[in-house]
Amino acid sequence: MTHDLSPRPLNPAPPAPRFPWPEGKRSALFIGFDVDAETAWIGNRPENVDRMVTTSHGGYDARVGIAKILELLDDLGLKATFFIPGWTAEAHTAACEPIAAAGHEIAHHGYLHKCPDRNRLDEAREEIDRGLAALKARLGVRPVGYRAPSGENFPELLAHLADRGLRYSSSFRDDIRPYRHLLADGRPGPVEIPVNYAFDDWNFGMTSRLDSRPIFGRDAILPLWREEFAMTHDWGGVTTLVLHPQVSGRPMRWAILRDFLAEIAARGDVWIATGRQILEHYESCESRAAD
Ligand SMILES: [Zn+2]
Repeated sequence: MTHDLSPRPLNPAPPAPRFPWPEGKRSALFIGFDVDAETAWIGNRPENVDRMVTTSHGGYDARVGIAKILELLDDLGLKATFFIPGWTAEAHTAACEPIAAAGHEIAHHGYLHKCPDRNRLDEAREEIDRGLAALKARLGVRPVGYRAPSGENFPELLAHLADRGLRYSSSFRDDIRPYRHLLADGRPGPVEIPVNYAFDDWNFGMTSRLDSRPIFGRDAILPLWREEFAMTHDWGGVTTLVLHPQVSGRPMRWAILRDFLAEIAARGDVWIATGRQILEHYESCESRAAD
């Protein structure tokens, strides 16, 4: 494929519309967990499948992480969205079932967590279709939300998401409020609930033999999260969390997350919502604006 490097906005979506959050709240908090399990380690690096210790980072999800995260959310009375790769739903069905049973939203996160690649369109579409089939067969769920594995996207994939009934995406980094994608053929695309990379726990809390990085504790993370949240709140945006049970389900990180969420939940001026609730609010504001 030749690359079109001509100057133009590389995301053609119009600006995010101004609309109020429900119940007079000033901002929104979207708690999202990516239940990658072992797919984070084998999706883009299949040779890791023969490294039991490397993949055991991901195995923590099913053994400990998911259950501890569900316990935390239950303690705080919060609902979240869990983006689950199809492979995870098949390999760890019993660990995933309590997520839906507790009333949380289940959303799409690819099949084997392969980073979407525009040079391999068939593979990118197959990841979507196999993921949908697995979530339906194992968890009885038809998701409306999608977060791209490894956080990548491109026009043909956005169109495929829309064609498969996926109504929102939560991957892009280019706004602090939701907006609607514009597909290459001019059709409206999914609603984007943009993420904030400062709230991706993998950046601070994951290190491994093959990808050794510094990790950080409470003194680094809580001030960063508090300040980023405070300003996003001030600007009326959505604070989107990109968390992983294999990171934030670990003992120290679990306590950091608990304290951060408890602070926000105690405020009363933040709308804590799932991706689906944010989508539905967006769409109701959109249809009212069109009247
Ligand atoms: Zn992921």
